Formats: sequence, structure tokens, C-alpha cells
Amino acid sequence: MIYLDNTATTPLLPEIIDEMNRIFKQAWGNPSSVHSIGQIAKAELENARNSIASDLSAKSSELFFISSATEGIGLMIPNIIKKNQIQHIITSPIEHSAVLKTIQNCKSVELHMLDLDENGGLKLSNLEEKLTHCKGNKLVVLMHANNEIGTLLPLKKVSELCLQYDALFFCDMVQTIGKYDISFSKVSVDFAVASAHKFHGPKGAGILYIKSGRNYPPMIYGGGQERNMRSGTENVPAIAGMAKALELAKKDLNSRSQHIQHLKSHFIEHIKTEIPEIKFNGNSQKGGLYTLINISLPLKISREILNIKLDLAGLAASQGSACASGVMKNSSVIQHIYGEDRNALRLSFSFLNTIHEIEQAVDILKNIVNKK
Ligand code: PLP
Repeated sequence: MIYLDNTATTPLLPEIIDEMNRIFKQAWGNPSSVHSIGQIAKAELENARNSIASDLSAKSSELFFISSATEGIGLMIPNIIKKNQIQHIITSPIEHSAVLKTIQNCKSVELHMLDLDENGGLKLSNLEEKLTHCKGNKLVVLMHANNEIGTLLPLKKVSELCLQYDALFFCDMVQTIGKYDISFSKVSVDFAVASAHKFHGPKGAGILYIKSGRNYPPMIYGGGQERNMRSGTENVPAIAGMAKALELAKKDLNSRSQHIQHLKSHFIEHIKTEIPEIKFNGNSQKGGLYTLINISLPLKISREILNIKLDLAGLAASQGSACASGVMKNSSVIQHIYGEDRNALRLSFSFLNTIHEIEQAVDILKNIVNKK
């Protein structure tokens, strides 16, 4: 199987499995226990926090371990609203469902949806208008990179506008941490989330960043773990695996990103020659997130049939978003931008993919289009 669905999740690297195995064997204690077995696990937990802090130029005290980005979004946004008496949330209609569904349930705030350009990009002037217009406490919630069409947020400009208009800024960095050189000391973000399984780490571990100096009530009540923010015994093996995955991602950032960009350019060049009627969605072809491409093929078959054909041919890609039941749903992002679902197909790459796989993937798509 050719795996081109790295936006959904990435394969665990052998180094990460080794690191997790080491913790499973040597540091299996409960990090909250005061005896030495517990303290060995506690030391590993804090080593992981320090290592992630150093990779993201953050302070260790700004990092909280969570089980997924969805958890961080779903529990922290209501927490921020309550603590800061937020009256307005400014966001975009193409955020991840974890964000959209969470804020739709925050009944005490007024919701302001940003207008997007024809590629799903933010219009800074529209953000500024909304920031000027909203009187009272404001929270801006925007993703750094869109997971379906790869639109990139002008992070620095957005953070400067938030500072200028005294708005808090929550950034979903799930698709960019581990793929770009993110430094919290250089950009002013108040809250951010990331997820280990998107950068070759394990599932079940994520990061919540809260800019220093801000105290929040617990997201989960209980034993007071994670400095009282997120109770529940920490998943030390997964957290150590996440730290290792981020360390490798940072160390190999240039070689990995160059390789992936080369794969993507090769794919674009090749598929344009083989299937000239192809359409590219969003700005995934140029200027967007380098790890993915979103295309529409000249096909009149249903999503389900295309899915079966891709699977039989040995290509793992994604159409729309898979919900927990495993049923494919129309991409709400594509629907929002184009007013139709366009039979969009997302292919997303990792540094483990090869040029040969890219050529095979193009051949598979060409065969499907030619057989109709
Ligand atoms: N935000 C974005 C942009 C994502 O791509 C995803 C997962 O695909 C999430 C949030 C949710 O992440 P998690 O799988 O850690 O819950």
C-alpha cells in the first residue's frame, strides 16, 4: 500500500518505538508516586517537557500534556471563555470540527465568522474589521494550516493584530508543529495545541501551550496532575515518544521538508502531464502547506466507488473527513469554498515516501481516470 494520508496520521518511527519501549520497561511507575519508582517516571516526564520546551523555544511551565489536540481544544476554549469573560469569538468557517463544534456549544459568546478569499485564505483586513467592531473581551481562534486544503495563516501578522486589539489568540498548530520551525519566543500566541501522531509520534499524546503568566482553572478535576490543569495519570511512554519525535523532526527539519517538497513538485508536474484536466483545490498547489495537495479528478463516480478503486489499487489517500464510524463525509471545507464537494481528494506526504511511490500513485490515478 502506498500511504499518502500523512495528514490523518503518520507512521511511528522505529526510534520512537524504541524510546517508548525503554519507558515501558524502565519508567513504568506512576509519576505522582513519591517513592523512587514513581520518581523515575516523573523524571522522564519532566525530561520530555524540557526537551519539547527547548524545541519550541517555550518555557517548560508553559506546556501541559494532553491526550489529543481535540481534548486541548474542547476543554480549554470553554475554560478561556469563562476565566477571561470572553464576549466575542472570531474564527473561520474552515476550522477543524473540534474547534467549530466546541464554539458552537459556547452559548454565552457572540460568534464572528471571517470571510475567506477564493482559496480559503484569511483576509487580514476582514480580521482587523472584526477586531475593531467587537467591543469587549475577544478570543481569536484560527488554525496555522488547514488540514484539507493546506491554507497557511500569516501567523505573525495575525498575532500582531491580536496584540494591537487586545484579543487573546488560540492557534491550532496540529499540522505545523513538527513540520515548521515554530518558536513561541518569536511569535505571540496565547494558546496552541499540537498532536504527536501528526509528526511520527504515538497517538494519545498532545501538547497544550499556554503563554506564561496566565493561570487557568483545571480543565479536568481530580488528582491535580499537570500543575492542577489536567488531572489524570500521565501517559509517560507516549509523552516520551512525542518528545523524541519532535526532537527528530526538529533535527531533520530541513532534509525532511526539502524531500517532501520535492515529492510534491514531482507529483504536480507528473499528474498535470498525465491528467491535464486535473484541478487543484485551495492553494495547495502553490504557497500552501508543503505536506499536502488537494485535487479534483475528471471523474463522475461516487466517493464510495473511488474509495474502493483506490484501495484495490493500493493507494491510501483521503476524501473529505473520516468520522469515527469510518464513513466518509463530504469535505465541509471544500463545500464552503466552492459551494460543491468537487469529489476532492487529498494526498499528503511524509519524508518516508519515495519518488517511486509518487510515480506509482500518479499511474494509479491515471488508470482510474482512463477506465472511468
Ligand atoms: N486540528 C487539526 C488541524 C487537525 O488536522 C486535527 C486532526 O486531524 C485535529 C485538530 C485533531 O487532532 P487530534 O487527532 O490530536 O485530536
